[in-house]
Amino acid sequence: MMEFKATIGGKPAHVGSDFAVLNPATGEEVGRAPNMGGAELDAAVAVAKAAFATWSAQTDAALQAACAAVTAKIEEHAAELAEIITLEQGKPLNGLGSRWEVGGAVAWAGYTTGLSLPVKVLQDNEAGRVELHRKPLGVIGSITPWNFPVMIAVWHILPALRTGNTVVVKPSPYTPLSTLRLVEIMNEVLPPGVVNVVTGDDKAFNLGGAMSVHPDIRKIVFTGSCATGQKVMQSAAATMKRLTLELGGNDAGIVLPDADPQAIAEGLFWGAFINNGQTCAAMKRLYVHDTIHDAVCDALVAYAKNIPVGNGMEEASILGPIQNRMQFDKVSRLVADAKGRGKVLLGGAPGEGLFFPPTIVAGLRNGDALVDEEQFGPALPIIRYSDVEEAIRLANDSPNGLGGSVWSSDIAAAKAVASRLACGSVWINKHGAIQPNAPFGGVKASGIGVEFAEEGLAEYTDIQVVFA
Ligand code: NAD
Repeated sequence: MMEFKATIGGKPAHVGSDFAVLNPATGEEVGRAPNMGGAELDAAVAVAKAAFATWSAQTDAALQAACAAVTAKIEEHAAELAEIITLEQGKPLNGLGSRWEVGGAVAWAGYTTGLSLPVKVLQDNEAGRVELHRKPLGVIGSITPWNFPVMIAVWHILPALRTGNTVVVKPSPYTPLSTLRLVEIMNEVLPPGVVNVVTGDDKAFNLGGAMSVHPDIRKIVFTGSCATGQKVMQSAAATMKRLTLELGGNDAGIVLPDADPQAIAEGLFWGAFINNGQTCAAMKRLYVHDTIHDAVCDALVAYAKNIPVGNGMEEASILGPIQNRMQFDKVSRLVADAKGRGKVLLGGAPGEGLFFPPTIVAGLRNGDALVDEEQFGPALPIIRYSDVEEAIRLANDSPNGLGGSVWSSDIAAAKAVASRLACGSVWINKHGAIQPNAPFGGVKASGIGVEFAEEGLAEYTDIQVVFA
């Protein structure tokens, strides 16, 4: 069994108790994570606050060089990190799995390193000069979920460092090990206290809640469920923390009547089933026009039924188990309910342990639980429609607004429909393809603020305007 330590102030933190982290493919213990409480959180925030004074005073070039060194470290340890992710998260090493996740983390870290927020001159004339400066905030509290533990931690940590902030990161109790190792690796090239990690089992003590009210944390960047995001927002009010909240989605895809079912089947499948559907911006509802409904269903099922599902450590596996029992039970409940309302085209019955086969259920409608709720798992509902206006209305009939997609052979027609979807990202003939140079965030209940690109970087700063 591997050993994992939390890093606080550049050193391993000594904690009295720990908790087990289980491999979702086998139920076996992968390792143990420190079970920390308020004292450890206070210690981590205190060293991060102390480190901020010198870290934020560096030149922009020095910050950039440090971020480049961090990026190189992640790349150097890519294989090791991918293995830890597979063991604790369940996603395969292969395919769009853990190697791909770490590759993404390196790409994002590298791109973020190259970004900058130079001083903007708003006015320079005989009446005076007005400059807009971006100032780091202080200690950033990062709270991450269990679906992409390393990539999301990098999405939070790198822009914070790049803009001169210091960080305390708290991973999900389901997947803390890869983050413990990530922070240890980062500390090989960073001054003590710049990036720290705290872990806990969320039972006796709620670390995330304590971070949200901590007076010395200036911003929370949170990725997780809508319900927890709302709690973070409430808790953050008393200390007027800055917030970036990347929350849940219930993304709709709309297939227009002129789409080619064979050509779109693979994209539809991966749009919905990437990371076993445990992806914020996965396609979670699919609206298909009546005239090609059956052909799209047939092509999608034909593609899906050949995807190998198994233990992620085996190279042959392309999808793994559901990550945890709570999520497995949710998917099981939603699929059981959908069976009585629609027609199961593929899968539909839970497998061994936490394995659940890719499941496709047609004949569903808005109002059915699998359509209305975020399933966050390998089960896609298909809704037949005959009027595009109706499909747009049904797609927008959701409290969420993370992503959406339109599938068509006519790009202009697809873009016209796309512009009417109430969501932060919309894709044509693909779904969920995010990239580091494009801001990403949700509208409506899917969150506040954006990540990535200059717009995302700016969220780690306050504006100071200098009038000279
Ligand atoms: P979750 O909300 O249960 O947990 C997220 C994190 O919050 C964990 O680290 C958890 O320990 C912590 N937490 C628990 N209680 C807290 C509290 N009271 N205050 C502060 N933090 C607390 O989410 P999850 O189940 O880990 O992740 C799945 C959800 O995340 C899905 O809804 C998914 O759509 C969403 N998600 C969104 C994005 C995005 O970018 N929009 C990306 C990935 C996942």
